[in-house]
Amino acid sequence: MSNSVYRLAAVLLALGIFLFDVLSPLEGAIAVLYVLVVLIAARTSRRADVLVAAAGAIVLTVLAYVISHAMESFGSPALRAAVSLAAIAIATALALQSQAATETLAAQARLLNLSHDMIFVRDIRGVITFWNDAAAEVYGWTAAEAIGRVADELLGTKYPADRAVVEAALLKSGRWEGILEHQTRTGARLVLDSRWAIQRDRHGNGVGVLETHTDITERQTAHAALVRSERRYRRMFDTSRIGVIEEDWSAVQAELANVAEEGTSIADHLAANPDFYTRARRLIRIVDVNAAFLSMLSVDDRTQFLNTLDDVLGAADTTFPGALVAFARGDAFYEGETEMVSSDGKAVPVLFTITFPSSPDDGDKALVYVMDITDRKRAQDAIQQAQAELAHAARVATLGELTASIAHEVSQPLMAVVTNGEAGMRWLRRDPPELNEVEFALGRAVAEGRRASDIVKRIRAFLKKAPSHRDELALSALVEDAVALVQREIAKANIQLKIDLQPHLPNIRGDRVQLQQVLVNLMINAAHAMAGQDGARMQFITAAKTEVDDIEIIVQDTGPGIPNEHLQRLFEPFFTTKQDGMGMGLAICKTTIEAARQTDIEDDAARRLGKAGLNQHGGRMTVESLPRQGATFRVTLPSVDASATA
Ligand code: ADP
Repeated sequence: MSNSVYRLAAVLLALGIFLFDVLSPLEGAIAVLYVLVVLIAARTSRRADVLVAAAGAIVLTVLAYVISHAMESFGSPALRAAVSLAAIAIATALALQSQAATETLAAQARLLNLSHDMIFVRDIRGVITFWNDAAAEVYGWTAAEAIGRVADELLGTKYPADRAVVEAALLKSGRWEGILEHQTRTGARLVLDSRWAIQRDRHGNGVGVLETHTDITERQTAHAALVRSERRYRRMFDTSRIGVIEEDWSAVQAELANVAEEGTSIADHLAANPDFYTRARRLIRIVDVNAAFLSMLSVDDRTQFLNTLDDVLGAADTTFPGALVAFARGDAFYEGETEMVSSDGKAVPVLFTITFPSSPDDGDKALVYVMDITDRKRAQDAIQQAQAELAHAARVATLGELTASIAHEVSQPLMAVVTNGEAGMRWLRRDPPELNEVEFALGRAVAEGRRASDIVKRIRAFLKKAPSHRDELALSALVEDAVALVQREIAKANIQLKIDLQPHLPNIRGDRVQLQQVLVNLMINAAHAMAGQDGARMQFITAAKTEVDDIEIIVQDTGPGIPNEHLQRLFEPFFTTKQDGMGMGLAICKTTIEAARQTDIEDDAARRLGKAGLNQHGGRMTVESLPRQGATFRVTLPSVDASATA
């Protein structure tokens, strides 16, 4: 009921009592009934209403007394009036007190309503007696709907343990905390962090329970998703067939930061302090490894040896310096090929990728993915060996064709030796002997003898299965030597050879004999292609520097060219159109030219470890041809200038 209804009721009741008091012949303390007026006014919860009602009641009591008894005597009517006034005063005081207490409670309840948590109070039977605004909003029932209902029935509470166990814990300590589930009016289930506190009466008996609930549904869902994801990644880590190492690079990071602070470049520091490599290997801590990695190194137990990178990386590794430089530069990853050491001391060749941590200071770890390539390596070695055998066979075959040319080349200086020897003898026999002439003739004989010996050496080198070298070579000398080897073949086939090398070409780096063989092959192929052809037979060898300081050598002929369908397969091993051809020449040429170049850092490290440089030219070889317009082979090699600036 609204306040005005209470006010109206109080006014009407007061008037009724007044009229009854004045008009009724009854002699009694009727004015005591004004206490009811005060109590009705108190229902408005407003202090002013109580005070107005009390004042009104007092005025009306006095007025009725004056009207009925004037000032006639101070007998029992006066006493009754006084009792009534006292009763009104006491009732007013009590009403005001009770109002103040109610107001305090209401203020406290308003505080509970400010909470974001759902708070309700239930009595010991579970019946709800208080329900805050958050509860109304989240659960969907208003306070009026919820109060009086049994909490567990309304909310379909699901406890983490048996309800009786929870209740027992509450009674024992007066408090309970835990996770439980409630259902809202719309049927949604909420996961709640719940705190209960028991309310006791003066005798210590429980009279009610204050329940506070925080909705953690989203947090719980996010947490569950995180756990699922964590489990998934753990599974990927544990069951992956690729070895994975988790490494802590923070100590190395700190050292590198010191170096950077000193103003030295990392590469310089590494060059000046070779022992830093060894120390850095020990600074990288292994945090975890997966099963695939353990089995790769034949280790049974994760804790067996895994302390630092130094424990697993082979002593012959040449990639680590490069990884350090990449890490210092802030690269995201580094990959390469190296060797790890298995528990029985065997070297395991591996391919690896290191994914560097984005910020090692925050505890991020580097992840290294490792793939065992023992089998692949074995196959590769076998292929390389087969290739070397074939290359040798091809050289022998080439030599077969060159025999005439060689005989010619060697016989020429030999003849010159003989001729000069004879001339010397003739000058000696003179009387007196012409010693100056003799000396001159002997000098010529020695020079020609040396030339013959050089030719023989060159041929032997060409034939040898010697390991490859990386020498600095002048292109002009290389071309000259190659041409010397095939000169006779070319002359016999009536081919005009035109050589045009750009002056002052920078040197190239590579294996002299192998590169010579490439040129010899190309020239002999051209000679074969043009043999028996009518019209001009021309061959051009040109060389020039490219924009990026590489050197491009072009070997071109005016032969029949290469049909389109053959162009694709030209560099395949055993592709030949000749009856007695082997089809290995161009395949070997291309492999020789294009063998990948190592990075300079790895090269440096290889040299430090006393390993010979590998057969690595790092160039490109292509072919173009238009039918009946001859074939053009293009060989690009990095010059010494280009690799110095790379
Ligand atoms: P082979 O000389 O033993 O056949 P190669 O690998 O040297 O092996 O050459 C493969 C094939 O490429 C040759 O059989 C020939 O058909 C073709 N070829 C190579 N060079 C030329 C060229 N200058 N002109 C036309 N065809 C060529």
